[in-house]
Amino acid sequence: MTDQNQGQTDAGEYTYTPRQIEDMEHRAFRFGDGKISGTLACTLGVLSLLTVLCFKFPQYLTTTELRAAYDAAFLQQVLKYGMFAALGFGLLNFVMAKYRRLASVGILSTAAAFALGGYSIPLGPVEPTALALGLDWLILALVVSAILFIFLEKVFPKYRDQVILRPGWELDTWYFAFNHLLLTVLLLIGNGFVETVFGWAIHDGFQATIQSLPTFVQVIILIIAADFVLYWSHRFFHENPDLWKFHAVHHSTENMDWMAGSRNHVFQTITDRCLALVPLYLLGTTKGALDIYVGIAAFQAVYVHSNVNIPVGPLKYIFCTPQYHHWHHSSEEPAIDTNYAVHTPLFDKLFGTYHMPGKHWPAHYGTVKKIPTSFWGQMMHPWRKDTEEEVDAAG
Ligand SMILES: [Zn+2]
Repeated sequence: MTDQNQGQTDAGEYTYTPRQIEDMEHRAFRFGDGKISGTLACTLGVLSLLTVLCFKFPQYLTTTELRAAYDAAFLQQVLKYGMFAALGFGLLNFVMAKYRRLASVGILSTAAAFALGGYSIPLGPVEPTALALGLDWLILALVVSAILFIFLEKVFPKYRDQVILRPGWELDTWYFAFNHLLLTVLLLIGNGFVETVFGWAIHDGFQATIQSLPTFVQVIILIIAADFVLYWSHRFFHENPDLWKFHAVHHSTENMDWMAGSRNHVFQTITDRCLALVPLYLLGTTKGALDIYVGIAAFQAVYVHSNVNIPVGPLKYIFCTPQYHHWHHSSEEPAIDTNYAVHTPLFDKLFGTYHMPGKHWPAHYGTVKKIPTSFWGQMMHPWRKDTEEEVDAAG
């Protein structure tokens, strides 16, 4: 928070030390011990069951906007392979007599998925609904992010000894699920907010000029405009003691990876969604430019939290990287209240909050003072009785 930030950018005396990873060996996946196949059986089985429920009850469990974007027939084929893979991995565990409980969950879930109609539920038109659970969004985002980022974290790890199921993964998985299930609610609130509050500011001539620019230029304008809004809203969340209590939830993770960014108080999720839409709404770019920007933003939001270190040379001065955003999550003094930007370090440079000490990475992550570690404890954290500890909490 502000008062802890005095003179921190001039931290020439600070000694940076490498991070010591706690022993996570007992949580690691190793080939041959059955934990990999058991986990895959369980995960694929549960995901298969949830996917079948989406095909069975699309009007309640899937999102109108997303249904228009994916090919349901193709996803049924993917589901078929997923279901047989869950059964295969589960049976393998029973043969190996290892992790049978995980395998049982996988096999039983897949059996339930088959009983509900499996991968051959007839597809047809779905009545559009404004409110539904974003279960399709959750499943797609989880599968795509897990495949992409677990691959990147294994091939280009920053911390090789940090395992996939690191401490706190259960909590972050719950946040991931919660935030994705809320998609239609967030869309409704976000669209309602910008239309109600900023509807008057729409200027057709201005938007026509923006749309006449090359797509590449429109994307750059979107990145800079969105980053300006997100920089300042993020900074307010750090510098205002009441807002910090909400944002501290996001900073409470002590192990950074592709799941860590999911941890957000629901108030933060709603606020971020509303504010991020403002520049997009006012600029009114072409759909092509908007789609590219949303793709970049979605990738970068996960990437900057991930346990990935890909050398990008001078590009690190143009785009926010994991090293850059990891410093934002550090509890070390020179890094507190720095690196607020989401897309490019530009505004941190301009407004004096840039912190990138050469090749160093943080030794410690999290809030300076601890907050509760349960989902409901964190949801209620902003309303807990004010103590000196909470007022001081920053990271
Ligand atoms: Zn922050």
